[in-house]
Amino acid sequence: MSEIRSVDLVIPVYNEEANLPKLLDRLKADLEPLTATWRAIFVDDGSRDRSWQLISEAAKADHRIVGIRLGRNYGQHAAIFAGFARCDADAVVTLDADLQNPPAEIPRLLGSLAEGYDVVGGWRQQRQDRAFRRYASFWMNRLISRATGVPLRDYGCMLRAYRMDVVRMMRESGEVASYIPALAHCFTDRMTEIPVAHAERAEGESRYSFRKLIGLLLDLLTGFSMFPLRALSTFGVMMALGGLGFAALLLLLRFAFGAEWAAEGVFSLFAVLFVFVGAQFLAFGLLGEYIGRIYDEVRRRPQYVVRAEVGDRVEEGLRRAL
Ligand code: UDP
Ligand code: MG
Repeated sequence: MSEIRSVDLVIPVYNEEANLPKLLDRLKADLEPLTATWRAIFVDDGSRDRSWQLISEAAKADHRIVGIRLGRNYGQHAAIFAGFARCDADAVVTLDADLQNPPAEIPRLLGSLAEGYDVVGGWRQQRQDRAFRRYASFWMNRLISRATGVPLRDYGCMLRAYRMDVVRMMRESGEVASYIPALAHCFTDRMTEIPVAHAERAEGESRYSFRKLIGLLLDLLTGFSMFPLRALSTFGVMMALGGLGFAALLLLLRFAFGAEWAAEGVFSLFAVLFVFVGAQFLAFGLLGEYIGRIYDEVRRRPQYVVRAEVGDRVEEGLRRAL
């Protein structure tokens, strides 16, 4: 295992003007003990507040700060992949801009990486989020572990360290994954998780709406496994067999009790029909998800577009990043 001499931090930013000054101070203070040299790549995910202005000023004042501005709001994961595109250090650490992930944990993450792991995840202790998010996360984490076979306990924690080789391969996959460790797991099984502290969001509300969370769930189901398709086929076969059995039973009862009884049987057939129709809709919906992904893939639309950069390379103007 090669030594870690440099580290790139990738920090997605969406309307975080209230948190950025404090985050910058914390980074400078908390990364002081680090022997490796560091660089912070802030990716402005189409913020509408002064975030980009603050990032540009910081980049001009400190050569360790780099800014990338995306063409519009593409979402946290696209922003992270835009940051990955600029990484060239020995290790890459991702963290949130809202100070929920304490930068003071970064040296420990890198320590684990140096022990011979390719990916080190943070496992949030005493999560400081709404109860709803905590319960949803608990079940999501179990589901994700099952569906992807990646043995992590906390998928939502963005405080993670990766070796550059893994980041390079993720970059080459050309995909913007919502479950970055699940993508990383395609390349390595040297993954571990260490407990990290979790703070309350310093300023503002979570940038995730319920709609965005549902989007993440669908991404997971179709992005990393064929499990829903298989489960559906099994379910479909079982339904069909059950339906046949039920039809046979109705026929028998019809002969046993006569035509009068069968009139009521019509209604039970209706019930059966509804179940079938429901199952079909579910199946169509899921198939649609896969087809939608294929459609996205064949169109080769850029998954994000860079508007401007500051730091060691300054550029203006929109350009495709992928
Ligand atoms: N974020 C982003 N684009 C978005 C939503 C969020 O870049 O569309 C950033 C946000 O600025 C923050 C991080 O992603 O740095 C995590 O977002 P948030 O704190 O809202 O999520 P939560 O902590 O509630 O999971
Ligand atoms: Mg947060």
